[in-house]
Amino acid sequence: MDALISINPATLSEVGRVPITTPEELDVAVRRANDVFVDWRTDRAFRQKLMRACSEALTQRTTEIVPLLVAEQGKTAAEAGGEIWVSARHFAHAADSDWADEEPGPDAPGRHARIQRIPLGTVAAVVPWNFPVFLTVAKIAPALAAGNTVVVKPAESVSLVVDKVVQILAEILPDGVLQIVHGGPDIGRALVEHPLIRKVSFTGSTQVGKLIMRQAAESITPVTLELGGNDPAIVLDDADVALAAQSLARSAFFNAGQMCVAPKRAYVPTGKVDEFCQVFADQIAGATVGDGSDPDTTMGPLHNTAQRNFVQQLLDDAVARGATIVAGGGRGTELPGHFLEPTLVRGVDDSFDLVALEQFGPVFPVIAYTNLDDVLDTVNDQEFGLGASVWGVDDDAATAVAERIDAGSVWVNQHNAVEVELPFGGIKSSGFGREGGLAGIEDYLQTRVISIRSQS
Ligand code: NAD
Repeated sequence: MDALISINPATLSEVGRVPITTPEELDVAVRRANDVFVDWRTDRAFRQKLMRACSEALTQRTTEIVPLLVAEQGKTAAEAGGEIWVSARHFAHAADSDWADEEPGPDAPGRHARIQRIPLGTVAAVVPWNFPVFLTVAKIAPALAAGNTVVVKPAESVSLVVDKVVQILAEILPDGVLQIVHGGPDIGRALVEHPLIRKVSFTGSTQVGKLIMRQAAESITPVTLELGGNDPAIVLDDADVALAAQSLARSAFFNAGQMCVAPKRAYVPTGKVDEFCQVFADQIAGATVGDGSDPDTTMGPLHNTAQRNFVQQLLDDAVARGATIVAGGGRGTELPGHFLEPTLVRGVDDSFDLVALEQFGPVFPVIAYTNLDDVLDTVNDQEFGLGASVWGVDDDAATAVAERIDAGSVWVNQHNAVEVELPFGGIKSSGFGREGGLAGIEDYLQTRVISIRSQS
């Protein structure tokens, strides 16, 4: 039996194994999902009742899911609990959402028209490892509520926890409506290219997003792509620098910085960099790096060796080019896993790979600036457009700066403030399509027009 082996990123011990789905089994799963779509699409009230039940099940069974999420992904138990909480909120939002299934078209002499919003069919949900439960549910909940059936393909290193969640939900849902397949890129590709898949919803790297878009193009399958990010935080001249530094130091290291919308660099007025760095360093001095299952741990390990090595290489390169590590930089623990302390770096600019590439780790560079227009040009020139934040005491002035940033979400005096009620997604190389809010449900609907000319 070919199996995926999950490794605990803190201890490097085996967490468990999951059999890899064969192409034949995948075909059976997609055909089954397509068969049951016919019934599932018919009763919206019934579906929304089940979305409520799914929300309650996740809440009630949180303690079964959290230890597995911690062991397999590496995050802290508190972060894992938060991930299940927000996943339950996604189902509750889907249960409460109210969208028009149909609206009348504009009148014309001798005919009337109905504009309908109907589900697409079977959706492939291809998901990464950083928030395996939340990012899976962010697809399942709106897709099912809208009347689609779903086949999930989790990242291979977090298969156990996503499998567990899908089994919990499948106990509530009609047979075949929600299924899961396991494997690496081959199985992902086979799912995306299956002729009965009517939509692909992908969250992951920009690199794989491009492949998925090409694969889906063969059968003109619509895609939603939630891709990489490299979020800037812009601290304005009038900002309360201490507040900005404290807040950014909290959000930058959530999930060990492995968050698509983590703040990934701060632009700070030159005269305020010292104060910003001092407060930021004080804030992270209280961090305890360790195994996420230890209640004292405030930040877990990076998820895998490649990720750990990549971030270290970016850090080493920055130091070799003259950057200063203000705080952190070590492993922070004797445990054998992929650890790196929360790390603050200054003396860098936009030409450093640490700043320009998607780092996806717990290193935070601070860039001094004198001209805000130059900062905005640089920010808007970058390939990503997922999130950004602006910090200042004058809300109107900060909002005016926010409106000059090309990104799917721009937050003022907060960062990564993703809410299930608000549409979330990227522009440029960060992707397209939205999750959350009503836009997130509409992403799983298509338009059909019935135009009637009466013979009588
Ligand atoms: P990844 O792109 O390597 O993998 C994501 C998923 O795609 C996995 O399930 C993988 O098995 C599958 N896959 C890989 N190759 C495939 C192929 N050719 N065909 C079909 N499926 C394939 O991403 P990752 O390393 O797991 O996650 C980290 C990335 O995810 C980062 O770039 C991060 O920014 C991004 N991300 C984006 C968001 C967002 O909402 N925009 C959220 C979280 C993470």
